Amino acid sequence: MKTAIIGAGLAGLSCALTLEKHGHTADIFEQRKEIGFRYDIAELMTPILHAPIDDSVKFFSETYDIHLKPTSNVQKIFVHSENESAYVEGNIGFINMRGQYRESYEKQIAQQLVHSKIQYDSHASYEAISKEYTHVVLATGDPQDTQQIQPYDIAFPSTFAGAIVKGDFVRNEVHTWFNSQFAPKGMGYLLPHSKTQATLVIVYPQYEDDWIQNRKGFWEAFVKQASHTLNQEVVIEKEFTITDYMVGKCRYPRIGNTFFVGNCFGAITPFLGFGQTGSILSGIYAAQDICGLGDYEALCKPLFKDYDDSLVLRRGVEKLSNHQLDLVTRSLHNSMVKKVVTQPNMSVLKGLSHVLKPFISK
Ligand SMILES: Cc1cc2nc3c(=O)[nH]c(=O)nc-3n(C[C@H](O)[C@H](O)[C@H](O)COP(=O)(O)OP(=O)(O)OC[C@H]3O[C@@H](n4cnc5c(N)ncnc54)[C@H](O)[C@@H]3O)c2cc1C
Repeated sequence: MKTAIIGAGLAGLSCALTLEKHGHTADIFEQRKEIGFRYDIAELMTPILHAPIDDSVKFFSETYDIHLKPTSNVQKIFVHSENESAYVEGNIGFINMRGQYRESYEKQIAQQLVHSKIQYDSHASYEAISKEYTHVVLATGDPQDTQQIQPYDIAFPSTFAGAIVKGDFVRNEVHTWFNSQFAPKGMGYLLPHSKTQATLVIVYPQYEDDWIQNRKGFWEAFVKQASHTLNQEVVIEKEFTITDYMVGKCRYPRIGNTFFVGNCFGAITPFLGFGQTGSILSGIYAAQDICGLGDYEALCKPLFKDYDDSLVLRRGVEKLSNHQLDLVTRSLHNSMVKKVVTQPNMSVLKGLSHVLKPFISK
């Protein structure tokens, strides 16, 4: 058996590490010169849409022997709509770094590899690789690569505008903004890396051409709003924009001996766009199948379900006006509502659905 993994990102590396733990090694091809996501940013890993995982760091460590050190754990999440602000406290999740940061999650996973070789600077073509190897794991992070092989159902392409910013932040507090004036049917968020640095982002679906063209205007309005909400001048260090970032899912997790993992599988839950947990899990599951320890398609079923449930929730929330978003935010002041959202033994997706149902069905 000869296994190739195309892409040394979260999914590909988790797959390689799991293979190693079961006595197999893979050849990993990475088009970049070193490990690291294209964007040097902070991301949030939250169990929010993957029940019953309530602590992802503990879960990956205890269940799969994959050890991740986050930058901080989030105890408080602020929700800001046009005219309202509220917060929810509890085990919200973890902030971790991506990209070239020394402590990025992909670098942490790569450091745990013992035998697998990563061939850097090596843009692998699926056609060529699949001729040479018995098993291929497609982990390029790019659904367009999946589309070359099979149908990939796109929920929506999205636009990101973001920056690394300087300011005065509380490390374990995250801010989110829901306001169609600068993130139509999307959101803005701030994830602190430290007391003085954070990732600030807006992300929204590309439903209208105007929204793509007005990216700069939305971004400027958002930075102004974020400075106002946080009561400080947010200073931009390094900006980035991304367009046509696809959120969707593949039709078949496995075709023959080709496994689709991470974004190539459809790891991003469409409601808030979180893909890290699903990427790592799909990488692990593919490895388990290759080692004869499970069936990839069966293992992926809960991920497809999380995706579908999350898409239903998103479609509902997309219908809310700024006024309705204000009402939802105001409802978070209610202690019962807060409890539902952060209840440890219930799927937060379910909790959120309960909270949002009356607003969505209006
Ligand atoms: C701006 C932004 C913010 C995000 N924020 C969050 C968040 O807060 N929380 C969250 O959970 N998710 C977030 N996500 C989503 C998350 O980053 C992705 O779901 C996750 O990184 C996907 O992992 P992956 O392994 O599939 O792909 P990646 O991590 O992108 O890795 C793919 C790797 O494959 C390599 N590659 C590509 N093509 C080839 C080729 N032909 N040959 C060799 N190598 C190749 C790439 O260089 C890369 O190293 C965010 C995404 C973006 C863009």
